[in-house]
Amino acid sequence: MLLEIESLTKTFLGMTALDHVNFELAAGEVHALLGENGAGKSTLIKCLTGAYHRDAGSITLNGAQISPRSTSEAQELGIGTVYQEVNLLPNLTVAQNLTFGREPRRFGVIDNRTMKIDALKMLEGYGLDIDVSRDLGTYSVAVQQIIAIARAVALSGKVLILDEPTASLDTREVRMLFDVVRRLRDEGLGIIFVSHFLDQVFELTDRITVLRNGRKIVTEKTADLDRIRLISHMLGRELEGEEGEGARRPTEGRVGAEPILTMRGLGRKNMVEPFDLDIHKGEVVGLAGLLGSGRTETAQLVFGVRHAQTGTISDQNGPLKITSPRDAIAAGFGFAPEDRKTDGIIADLSIRENIALAMQARRGWARPIPRAEQDRIVADYIEKLDIRTSGPEKPIGELSGGNQQKVVLARWLAMNPRFLILDEPTRGIDVGAHAEILHLIQEITAEGMSILVISSELDELIAVADRVIVVRDRAHVAELVGEEIVSDNIVRAIATSKKQEEVA
Ligand code: ADP
Ligand code: MG
Repeated sequence: MLLEIESLTKTFLGMTALDHVNFELAAGEVHALLGENGAGKSTLIKCLTGAYHRDAGSITLNGAQISPRSTSEAQELGIGTVYQEVNLLPNLTVAQNLTFGREPRRFGVIDNRTMKIDALKMLEGYGLDIDVSRDLGTYSVAVQQIIAIARAVALSGKVLILDEPTASLDTREVRMLFDVVRRLRDEGLGIIFVSHFLDQVFELTDRITVLRNGRKIVTEKTADLDRIRLISHMLGRELEGEEGEGARRPTEGRVGAEPILTMRGLGRKNMVEPFDLDIHKGEVVGLAGLLGSGRTETAQLVFGVRHAQTGTISDQNGPLKITSPRDAIAAGFGFAPEDRKTDGIIADLSIRENIALAMQARRGWARPIPRAEQDRIVADYIEKLDIRTSGPEKPIGELSGGNQQKVVLARWLAMNPRFLILDEPTRGIDVGAHAEILHLIQEITAEGMSILVISSELDELIAVADRVIVVRDRAHVAELVGEEIVSDNIVRAIATSKKQEEVA
């Protein structure tokens, strides 16, 4: 085996990002690494390329244990990486980029002629017809990516890691890239391919490994897997055995009532096709779909993060004007986005400050909330949500993921929205906190708040949702209610490709 990873483990602040993961890569294979956001793909790659240092486990390359300390060390060992964002310098020429760090010299001076010759040699066989003395930035992203691959292969030459390489390429460019990848595979390179485009994965790869929540779920030959089984692995529900679904909450009384919000034809080009959505009082609506399907984009349109080009949102009193998150908050909406670190919380502020800020924003800055009242309310939330902390003054950044998420919830609850959107509310938190957050969602809705929850975990949606909307290829394609909400139905709706639907 070219590369063997055994029992790789990596934790961040007590959160396990990789949990005894095994992975192997053969020479001459393209191996897909799949999993929803937060599954651990990037962490695994960073451990391989020396960007992170593993806590435990071993990495063996050509029979020798390695522990790269930096990307350049990994490169010297034979492991090269190309990211979606090309990590080269657009203002240098193609030749300079290719030979960067090992420029040919004559009498101590960079030898431009030899450099060009070297560069042309490195690009041989890649099918590019380009001028290596032009600036890299003058070429398309696809060409730049192939140049980045050529550099990585020349420097490393054993393992090539492609992390979401096709995200910004058009169909023709993807073909071009795939031709290059196939040729390198045939020359004996081992290639790890990270992508959330399943069609591409089925077309290009020889084997697939699925990660979920830091664990390896399965490694199989691509030819032996079909979309339904693959998606089941990714979203965490096998089709056989629906045990545990008895935990579903009863739906009576919520879905039938008058909606508190009616969305009609809401859409934006290249984001989400126009959709209708009603939200009822005290209801939990789940949004199911794969990464990139249009789940988060739906939430962004509803909350005014992105401008809807078509459609309306109304409540009992008529149309609402929502063109920004500020409008959405004023209309009584809340949105706890997926990435707590960048959007949700302010890491240096304390628990008290985070919650107080939200309340203050709601009531206007003209009437400051007295400190004693802040303390009382914050203590109340810490108790109600069981936030584990040594005290209210602790900076959020020092809490565990689960407790951070509870503070995010507390902030929104303090603003008392009528409609709260939660994007992946349990991502990256431990099992105990996971169950508590689901329980909280139930409690909040019992008091009349309505929730839209986006989740990559079927179990989670099945446990809390009154209705599940399935999103696929940027469109809302199915709605399941009550008894229909079983993983089998959700996975099938996600897995059906457009082509199959036309045939049916
Ligand atoms: P993927 O690439 O599959 O989306 P990641 O490897 O980026 O997943 O993340 C796995 C988990 O590790 C996530 O819960 C993420 O929040 C966490 N994580 C990744 N990098 C860091 C970091 N530098 N600090 C803290 N947590 C991290
Ligand atoms: Mg990643």
